Parts: sequence; structure tokens; C-alpha cells
Amino acid sequence: MKKSIFFIAGLSSFMLLSCNEKSEQVKVDIPEAKTTEAATSQGDPTTVKAKEGAFQMKGLNYSYNDLAPYMDGITVETHYGKHHLGYCNNLNDAIKGTELETKSIEEILNGLDMSNSKLRNNAGGYYNHNIFWEIIGPNAGGTPTGKIAELIDKDFGSFENFKTQFSDAAKGVFGSGWAWLVYQNDGTLKITTTPNQDNPLMPNSEVKGLPLLNLDVWEHAYYLSYKNERPKYIDSFWQLVDWSKVEYRLSLVK
Ligand code: MN
Repeated sequence: MKKSIFFIAGLSSFMLLSCNEKSEQVKVDIPEAKTTEAATSQGDPTTVKAKEGAFQMKGLNYSYNDLAPYMDGITVETHYGKHHLGYCNNLNDAIKGTELETKSIEEILNGLDMSNSKLRNNAGGYYNHNIFWEIIGPNAGGTPTGKIAELIDKDFGSFENFKTQFSDAAKGVFGSGWAWLVYQNDGTLKITTTPNQDNPLMPNSEVKGLPLLNLDVWEHAYYLSYKNERPKYIDSFWQLVDWSKVEYRLSLVK
């Protein structure tokens, strides 16, 4: 929010220097903090609606500005209200009039024809961002507890090891893509990355399973606040991970 203060410039010492100006009201704008308040959103995520179609936007559990200073409000607004919405609308467009309209997004991705690039990019973009917004939040971060913590310790040695390996994977994505923590069918956790909007449900995925956690490393996710410094964005991401949501996703394993 923009703040202004008013004060009266009319003190006697000042008047000695400018006798003809007795009293003047001066408006002074206070400079805003650079990466967070300067990118404060005035928008409302509940107003973001897809055009008519099989899939709809799921909403956010927080407002656009709630993820600052780790993710600024304008970035979240553009990312959710423009990029994510675009994937949703284009997905609806890609399946219009086909039997896919009655299927779940998971069924569409599992049975995807990888040569259908419009469906591949937009079904992936829709699903990937649903998970991303779900597993981050304000007042989050810290270390996991419960079953997810046990699995991380078992499969990566420690939470710190896991964080390092996941961060390194995310930093290493060439161009646009995602980093993932996946629950594989054999009951183990695995870190993987995908290009573009591909994901671990797709038939061609190197690592397949249920995604528990993901990180968007497309430049649109961080460029406004972090410019080219993807590693700083990745380091900040850990302050936003809501481990109770990751634990919930783990409970979806059948
Ligand atoms: Mn994105």
C-alpha cells in the first residue's frame, strides 16, 4: 500500500530563508521496499475464472500478497491469473467435444498422446500449477513431520540432504521446467525434473508416480523479484513449503 505523509513546512528557521512563504502543505511519498511492496498486488484471486469448459480454476488458499517477501504479489497474480488461467482455458479448448471432457485430469495425463502438443502442454500446465499453489503458503517452511518426514529420512538420509538434492535438481533444469518429489509405486521417494509442462504422470516420464511436491522454475515464476538469479528463488521456496499439504498429498496414495 502506498503511504504518504503530510507536514507543515513553516518553521521559523525556514521562514527566515523564505519570508514570502508562510505556510505550505507538502506531500511526501515514502519510498517502498524494493522487491515486496513495490510489487504489491491489488487483485483478488477469487475473480479468476476459466471460460466455460470441463475444468475450472481451484482458487488459492491465500491472497496474492501473502507469500511476500519470498514471492511478490504481482508475480503471484500474473502467474495464477494469467499463466495458469491460460493453461486451463487452452486445456478446455483442446478437449472440447472429445471423450476426454468427462475424464479427470489425472486420467487425461496418464493416457496422454505425447504427440498432441496442445493437450500435453496445457493439461500439464493446468495440473502442475494446481499442485504448486496447493503445497505453498504463508506461515510455512520449516521441517516436515509425520510420515513424509520418515520417508524423506529413509530415502535421502536426512531432510538437509533432501533439500540440497532437490534444490540442485531445480537449479540444473535447462530452460523452463519443473523439479518434483515423487512417490513411486514401490513406495520410495524420488527427485526428478521435467522440461516445459511435462510431469510424472505422463507416459514418457523418466520417473513415474504421485507428485507430492513440485517447484516451477520457469522464469515467469521468479523473474520480477529475482531476475536471473534462480538459485535465490529456489532458496526462498523452502520458506513457503507447507509440509502439512505435502503430508496430505502422501495420504492420497492408495
Ligand atoms: Mn508457471
